[in-house]
Amino acid sequence: MRVLLVEDDADLSRQLKAALGDAGYAVDHAPDGEEAHFLGDTEPYDVVVLDLGLPKVDGVSVLERWRRDGKTTPVLILTARGAWSDKVSGFDAGADDYLTKPFHTEELLARLRALLRRSAGHATSTLECGALRLDPRAARASVDGEPLRLTSLEYRLLHYLMMHQGRVISRTELVEHLYDQDFDRDSNTIEVFVGRLRKKIGADRIETVRGLGYRLTPLAGESEAA
Ligand code: CA
Repeated sequence: MRVLLVEDDADLSRQLKAALGDAGYAVDHAPDGEEAHFLGDTEPYDVVVLDLGLPKVDGVSVLERWRRDGKTTPVLILTARGAWSDKVSGFDAGADDYLTKPFHTEELLARLRALLRRSAGHATSTLECGALRLDPRAARASVDGEPLRLTSLEYRLLHYLMMHQGRVISRTELVEHLYDQDFDRDSNTIEVFVGRLRKKIGADRIETVRGLGYRLTPLAGESEAA
């Protein structure tokens, strides 16, 4: 899952970037509204954390522009304490959730998980695909109850496939959602990661659809996820 963090406070940005990274997200950071609009316009994020008080272009205007252009990415806005009118204009501009500063990082992470879950149409927090389970709260996955030892990129890959299980996902889409913009993005490396993940979860769980991409499905005989 790839997140765009829009925040002009350097300390808070550093802290949130680290926390999001630890939680398994690929993170891009924009320190002002102009950069935020550009990145949101050109990169396919799964979720956006948007501070409203920003240099150059304010957060509400950025959000309004994205929504006018038809971008439906879930957006959580950060507002200053007591500024209730910010929340109203933020929601009117198309925000999906908000947090008032100061907040606990854990609460931000929980709200992002909920937004991602809702946007992918999942009702429960733990994702299941046959005997495969993934708990985004703990950033852990297991098969038949046996914990999997995954690198952070393998975890991201599995998380994305599980969020979109049953659908064919192209290599390009995976590259765009697993790596942040500073990463050396070579779509051939995706094949390597898929290969490694297959070794850990069972090769037949990830189907290669020739010329199109990959599809995660339960094994024959396992029940479909609820
Ligand atoms: Ca600010």
